[in-house]
Amino acid sequence: MTVRLYDTATRSVVDLPPAPAQVGMYVCGPTVYQRAHIGNAVPFVIFAWLRNWLRERGYDVTYVHNITDINDKIYEVAPGASAERARAATGWYLEDTASFRLEMPDEQPLATETIPEIVALIEELVASCHAYASGGDVYFRVSSFETYGALSGQRPDQVEEQEPSALKEDPRDFALWKATKEGEDTFWESPWGLGRPGWHIECSAMAEKTLGPEFLIHGGGLDLVFPHHENERAQSLAVGRPFAKIWMHNGLLRFVGEKMSKSVGNVATIQEVIAEWGREAALLFLMTGHWHKPLEFSHEAMTAASVQVESLRNALRGETRSKGDWNAFATVLDDDFNTPAALAILHRWAREGALVELQRGLAIFGLGELGDIVEAPAEVAALAQARVEARAARDFAEADRLRDEITRTGWEVRDVPDGFELVPGS
Ligand SMILES: [Zn+2]
Repeated sequence: MTVRLYDTATRSVVDLPPAPAQVGMYVCGPTVYQRAHIGNAVPFVIFAWLRNWLRERGYDVTYVHNITDINDKIYEVAPGASAERARAATGWYLEDTASFRLEMPDEQPLATETIPEIVALIEELVASCHAYASGGDVYFRVSSFETYGALSGQRPDQVEEQEPSALKEDPRDFALWKATKEGEDTFWESPWGLGRPGWHIECSAMAEKTLGPEFLIHGGGLDLVFPHHENERAQSLAVGRPFAKIWMHNGLLRFVGEKMSKSVGNVATIQEVIAEWGREAALLFLMTGHWHKPLEFSHEAMTAASVQVESLRNALRGETRSKGDWNAFATVLDDDFNTPAALAILHRWAREGALVELQRGLAIFGLGELGDIVEAPAEVAALAQARVEARAARDFAEADRLRDEITRTGWEVRDVPDGFELVPGS
């Protein structure tokens, strides 16, 4: 069976070359300036899973997930301390994504570490007349690139204006390099004076630096199709790079029915969601939606995901009673990475006791440890035993106190018919 994935550029499901083939996968990461919200985790998780699946199918995958540590937003939120803020927020993002305990991307390039490549690419665009310098800025000349708008499905003459500026020849043009403005404390030298790169050119350069001029998959959130990815494509193709073959855009998380964007305050951070629900429930929740459709994040949805996690965990503690049909599982994942259908098969295996396949399937999604029985240290077990005795004596206040004490040790106590069970807390 061929692996097939939905491609935004052709608006169709396309076949991957047969395995074993090299799959370079470049996925846009967040602009780092605060604790990332749970919506930022979606591309990180989806593409980490896809990497696992493609490896399972025999592909040689390189997963690159960049970090945008130069952007207007950072100057806005941390005036006078943008570099420090970007460094701190990069650390938070790495910490937050690591807490999913999925294998990390093969490379996580930073814009600040790619300045020479970015400047060289802009020089090439200027030399070939696809870009022009103007008042210390450099702009991409949209009229010079014939298929501009093709990715986002816009006619080149009807593309909306981006970043209004009197320095531009054409309202459709966009900045590759921006001269340093008053109050901006992070800047680099360039042939056009002190300044910093535009967001789009950072990704064109980081993708080429890590994966070469041609690679198979470019991913990111659906909100990045225009202008970000349209512009990346234009910049790289204009100077003869074949660039990405397939463009994958994940659906956005909706927060109580509304698009969860950076402009909406009080959204749940990755850290908050994992602290409240655990990484297993967070991962399982993301499996419930098809990757290119929007997914509704709510208290109810997370509660339902936790219940599903427990049911899978319990099944894994039972006995193997049957053998699952791995091909059925492979078929739904090969067909545009249908995780809700794969999850339904995992639940069927849990009911039927096909534990070998259940375990193998869960491992693709970072849930392979779900069935692990880890022995709690003796002192934690002693607390749990004391709690059983307190309950038997109807001293519920003491039982609650002991539960809290157990939680503080990093364990979670559960009541089971013949006593208690200790599982690592999340
Ligand atoms: Zn990008």
